[in-house]
Amino acid sequence: MLGNNQNGQGLLVVLSAPSGCGKDTVLALLEKCMPIRRSISMTTRPIRPGEQDGVDYYFVDEPYFQRMLQEDKILEYTRYAGNYYGTPRTAVDEWLHTGETVVLKIEVEGGANVRRLYPDSVSIFLVPPGMAVLEDRLRRRSSESEEEIQSRMTIARSEMKHAPQYDYIVVNDRLEDAVENIRGIIQAEKHKTCRSANLLSEVINNAES
Ligand code: 5GP
Repeated sequence: MLGNNQNGQGLLVVLSAPSGCGKDTVLALLEKCMPIRRSISMTTRPIRPGEQDGVDYYFVDEPYFQRMLQEDKILEYTRYAGNYYGTPRTAVDEWLHTGETVVLKIEVEGGANVRRLYPDSVSIFLVPPGMAVLEDRLRRRSSESEEEIQSRMTIARSEMKHAPQYDYIVVNDRLEDAVENIRGIIQAEKHKTCRSANLLSEVINNAES
């Protein structure tokens, strides 16, 4: 059968957004409308109410995280608001090898590292309709103290400055529109000529036999 993204030509997608911009919700809806693999990061930050170990993150302590780093089992990592966050390497490499679309939900430093390590990756920056909306969303989540909210807003403002380095910008105003826009970007990227070399030769060989 002919197919795109076969023979190890998976698509690596970086999704970044300031904290509180709703990328978890966007990603959860995206998972329902197209086949994607969501990488589960490892973090040393405390678990929040409603989160599940092994689903939202692998919650680990710092010595364990450092050991994973030393053993080269982390593809990229960062320190964010005082905690470590990293992408486990094995699952991502395996999924890309089997031609799947893998989404990394990571912050801007990690985004830049992935672009360098995987020049074929596609990066999408999700922005709030306004910074006041973002602060309001963070406050309504009420899982952080006022100090943490202010720290996250400071980080968010500096993260916004990295948006121009991304391939695509999507505004998360109406949730369904944001999801549909990201789905469209991924679909189009999968059909790019540079990712279809194997598909083209399969078509040509089929025509000849
Ligand atoms: P939160 O604590 O709100 O879950 O995440 C804080 C920030 O860390 C978010 O921007 C999130 O996307 C980012 N993040 C989560 N996992 C990773 C990771 O594995 N690597 C990097 N670089 N950032 C991550």
